[in-house]
Amino acid sequence: MAYDYDLFVIGAGSGGVRASRIAAGHGARVGICEDYRVGGTCVIRGCVPKKLLVYGSKFAHEFEDAAAFGWTLSPPSHSWATLRDNVNKEVDRLNAVYLRLLDGAGVKLHMGRGRLMDRHTIHVTKSEGGEETITADKILIATGGHPVIPSIPGCEHAITSNEAFHLREMPRHVTIIGGGYIAVEFAGIFNGLGAKVDIVLRRDRVLRGFDEECRTAVHQALIDSGIRVRTETEVGRIVAKGADGKGPYEAHTPLGGMFETDCVMYATGRAPNTRGIGLEKAGVQLDKAGAIAVDEWSKSTAPNIWAVGDVTDRINLTPVALMEGHCFADTEFGNKPRKPDHRDVASAVFCQPELASVGLTEEQARRTLGELRIYTAAFRPMKHTISGRHQRTFMKMIVEAATDRVVGIHMVGDDAAELIQGLAVAVKAGATKAHFDATVGIHPTSGEEFVTMRTARADTAPTRAAAE
Ligand code: NDP
Repeated sequence: MAYDYDLFVIGAGSGGVRASRIAAGHGARVGICEDYRVGGTCVIRGCVPKKLLVYGSKFAHEFEDAAAFGWTLSPPSHSWATLRDNVNKEVDRLNAVYLRLLDGAGVKLHMGRGRLMDRHTIHVTKSEGGEETITADKILIATGGHPVIPSIPGCEHAITSNEAFHLREMPRHVTIIGGGYIAVEFAGIFNGLGAKVDIVLRRDRVLRGFDEECRTAVHQALIDSGIRVRTETEVGRIVAKGADGKGPYEAHTPLGGMFETDCVMYATGRAPNTRGIGLEKAGVQLDKAGAIAVDEWSKSTAPNIWAVGDVTDRINLTPVALMEGHCFADTEFGNKPRKPDHRDVASAVFCQPELASVGLTEEQARRTLGELRIYTAAFRPMKHTISGRHQRTFMKMIVEAATDRVVGIHMVGDDAAELIQGLAVAVKAGATKAHFDATVGIHPTSGEEFVTMRTARADTAPTRAAAE
């Protein structure tokens, strides 16, 4: 049977766009549909605009630090509207770049919501109105995820990161519920832009899943920067005190506590977009967590349907979705079979200061490996010896004693993401501690600490001689 396309992709975010462009480059006839904006969460309402807001918010600290370096500034003031509009202009520019990339690769874009009718047929409800039916030999689902808000009374008053990029005004007081990536990143953004910020956590510390010492360092840094962290607290009800359901709001805890705020933002995780896309009609099954179940080639339970990115809930990061989409396209259309490799994926949390890591946490290494040598450094970064800012840098390297291999590197400090990106290559290449020791540092930098760590932490150093 002749199909309209060799490949049809549902969802034009990072994974879908990469897969479609690469497949088209290999000569496939490719179509893609998207019901929001081409670029996906990362470009439109995630990593990219978030990082720009982080840049914007950091000026507050720079202005404060400048005085000790001799600068006199008249009191700085900030226009949220200017920052918001400039960020959204950049998002528009990138959206246009993505449209051109698809066009240049010969991928046909169908703006509208795609739904599987069977294993080879997709029904698209067009954004401009009308319907179309498309057939394809192979199908890729790359529909991403969406923020989840617990269903509590008054939850309709809360925003998520989706809305945070479009706020009419900077709230005076923001309460962020959750302690993951998005919560700590936006806490830093709002704090820098002058809002009073509370984080409400159901546990004792932020960033579950990261290295414990790094979690503690970030948690303390949030507090040191003036953010109020309410631990072991849950919000059970939100009540609007203003007219027409507007703020200020009262956030009530189940135990009878209450605090006031101008904006409640939920950052309590994201769920895969699997509803209403006809998966059941095509024999595409979900795993226990509700994501599309895929094998190591990203193939679903239907033989001609694959899935990549957040909808598969493997590692929910843009570069991982890019890798998965690229591997799929090379394998299926480029005669270059390759599986995505999810080991040693570096990542960063753009809180202030940043947390970045690659490889195993100490806790994971203890569970899975034998004897370890662990090296840490905690210090005041050079800039802040003059600025007076109370900010510390923390670094950690985890070495498997039997092989001398560096299995994990973690850092909380300025530019951690840039630094760890470079070191991730070394970890991926299987570098040993001896390789780090043989590397000459760049002075004066924070990064040179990673090549001058000589003494393993006492509880992990078998003998002094072995550690040196
Ligand atoms: P995360 O999964 O990182 O964190 C969710 C947080 O919400 C956790 O602290 C969790 O607590 C808490 N939580 C969950 N349910 C509830 C509830 N009912 N009540 C109170 N707290 C709750 O999710 P995010 O929304 O921050 O981010 C989603 C994903 O987006 C991330 O996993 C990441 O993959 C991606 N992302 C990546 C970024 C980057 O690379 N820099 C930036 C932003 C997002 P607990 O620990 O108790 O479960």
